[in-house]
Amino acid sequence: MNYFEVKARIDELKNIIRENNEAYYVYDAPKITDFEYDELFRELRRLEEQYPEFKTEDSPTQKVGDKIAVGFKEIKHKYRLYSLDNSNNFDDLRKWYERVKKEYEKESDLELVVELKIDGLSCALSYENGELKLGATRGNGTVGENITENIKAIKSIPQKLSKPLNLEVRGEVYMPVSSFERLNEENIANGQKEFANPRNAAAGSLRQLDANITGKRDLHFFAYTAISENNDAFKTHKEALDLLKELGFEVNPNHKLVKGINPVIEQCAKWENERFNLDYATDGMVIKINELAKQNELGYTSRAPKWATAFKFPPEEVWTKLNGVELSVGKTGAVTPVALLEPVQLAGTVVKRASLHNFDEIQRLQLNIGNSVLIKKAAEIIPKVIRKKEDEFLGTYQTPTKCPCCGADLVKPEGEVVLYCTNTLGCPAQIKGRIEYWASKEAMDIDGVGCTLVDKLWEKGLINDFADLYKLTMDDLMTLDLIKEKSADNLYTAIQNSKTPSMTKFLTALSIKLIGKETADLIANEYPTLEVIKNATIEDLIKIDGIGEKAAKSIVDFFNNDNNKIILNKLQEYGVNPQGSAFEKISNIFEGKTFVITGTLSQPRNVFEERIKRLGGKTSSSVSKKTSYLLAGENAGSKFDKASSLGVIILTEADFDVLSKGNVDEEKL
Ligand code: AMP
Ligand code: ZN
Repeated sequence: MNYFEVKARIDELKNIIRENNEAYYVYDAPKITDFEYDELFRELRRLEEQYPEFKTEDSPTQKVGDKIAVGFKEIKHKYRLYSLDNSNNFDDLRKWYERVKKEYEKESDLELVVELKIDGLSCALSYENGELKLGATRGNGTVGENITENIKAIKSIPQKLSKPLNLEVRGEVYMPVSSFERLNEENIANGQKEFANPRNAAAGSLRQLDANITGKRDLHFFAYTAISENNDAFKTHKEALDLLKELGFEVNPNHKLVKGINPVIEQCAKWENERFNLDYATDGMVIKINELAKQNELGYTSRAPKWATAFKFPPEEVWTKLNGVELSVGKTGAVTPVALLEPVQLAGTVVKRASLHNFDEIQRLQLNIGNSVLIKKAAEIIPKVIRKKEDEFLGTYQTPTKCPCCGADLVKPEGEVVLYCTNTLGCPAQIKGRIEYWASKEAMDIDGVGCTLVDKLWEKGLINDFADLYKLTMDDLMTLDLIKEKSADNLYTAIQNSKTPSMTKFLTALSIKLIGKETADLIANEYPTLEVIKNATIEDLIKIDGIGEKAAKSIVDFFNNDNNKIILNKLQEYGVNPQGSAFEKISNIFEGKTFVITGTLSQPRNVFEERIKRLGGKTSSSVSKKTSYLLAGENAGSKFDKASSLGVIILTEADFDVLSKGNVDEEKL
């Protein structure tokens, strides 16, 4: 770039950034991703550093935030609010630390607090004598919007503190990701505007002229700064956070007081991955010097504190191209579209596929093959397609009417968004899906029987349903060219060893629509034998706590279906008997008691499950307040911790033996 081109580029960048500031801060509707914004911002800052003659006071790099939206009263902040400088790599973070540390020659390692950078909307709250008086947005840092009424509508913000302090509290108003998704679903259903991300939903909900609307939205507030006129209130940032918590604020628990830069980097690397498990959006980490005296010594630039910096995570959203749509047919016949993408780097991994939810969603987004699409990493393993470039119309991908596997008609049941292949009994994709599922870990857990093997068996015509697995002979298995470690011998044994599953596993493995492991568990607890389950009516089933009408109907339909009857008969003939079918209640000593089993016991779990049921008790796979006992073997894990925290009685195997003989008083345990 020559000199004039540099000047032109700087002007251009300033304009783009200003426009986007307006879209972001005033209209809560960003046009570019945060990552793209940061890149532009960094480019401008770099150019201004190289050519200081072009740096002007009104440049976005010298200012905080932007304008006040129409309708809000302006409010002058008592203490200025700043932005944060940021970097996106550990080298820059180390450089920041070295720079800051130089100011304190004697100091060995500085105390720092590392915390999550919450991606919401920063607000300043003033308390007088412990009472909430004012709430304001950051605005340009000097002047913000008066949103006191809206702030008062947020339940997690205390209006009265537990101490009569004069305090300014700053923090981030945010909307949990789950609430954001729910709000968007509602808005879409009502034909209203969809928010681009949780930050915008929070900002749009908070900056409402009618505070009643704010009150209806699920907004929260994480407090991260306190400013007090009383110098004794706290001396460090960590003490301030602890005080805020004591006063009744939500303080994000994921902060850490450390010494030196290495543990900071450790925390950044940790949260770069773990952020996706949180129910709120974070776009990075904030690193602050702990001692307030040191903070004051270092001071501020025109835009940001020198005593703090941010580390920005790699983007969780990127643009790429939709190269194709793959239609996958699941075990229940559900046909789901999967996006095939131009491979792209996203939050540390290369992404080639993404979820497209369902065909209604494709129609709504007006997507077609060839479109540029924004994809987003979420807690799920597979990322989601969010939208296409606004002004790019390539027509809309046609919703299929026939099953891509068997060609049968597709239907959309009333009240559902999912399309199903109608050829339940004949569609190879469905049948193979059910066989694979039967053998999967969640179901019968037959080692070595996965999709490759099922494909081979199917192609050779050796199996037509999951019951056929049990009639396979060694000779049959020998005809397949198997990889060594999964020898025919091992496979045969694994299949034969799976003939006595627990009732829960057996019911789960049948692939009954709407019946997953949890529901199967509820039924297995209530009904001791398969015979009873087969004969249950909808009225019987809905009496079970947790089973609704749809699930009940699905069970009844399943057992009435002729094809399923044939499969069930075959299973019986081949000796597949769910444990429990032989149970006979021998006592009622465990009547009304629910057991959860964890860890390794002297015998397989189903032996204990059977015993509990024979004695009139129930078993469940997860610990809750309703759990009566946790039977814990060796190496018990999270269930043990949960049970302890809920005060559930924990039994060793020896305790259980005594208890099941019925001669012990519960109080004595
Ligand atoms: P930026 O949005 O890049 O200007 O970054 C500065 C903003 O980060 C602040 O104005 C706050 O809104 C926000 N922020 C989020 N979490 C924190 C935190 N834990 N400490 C300080 N600022 C935070
Ligand atoms: Zn089909």
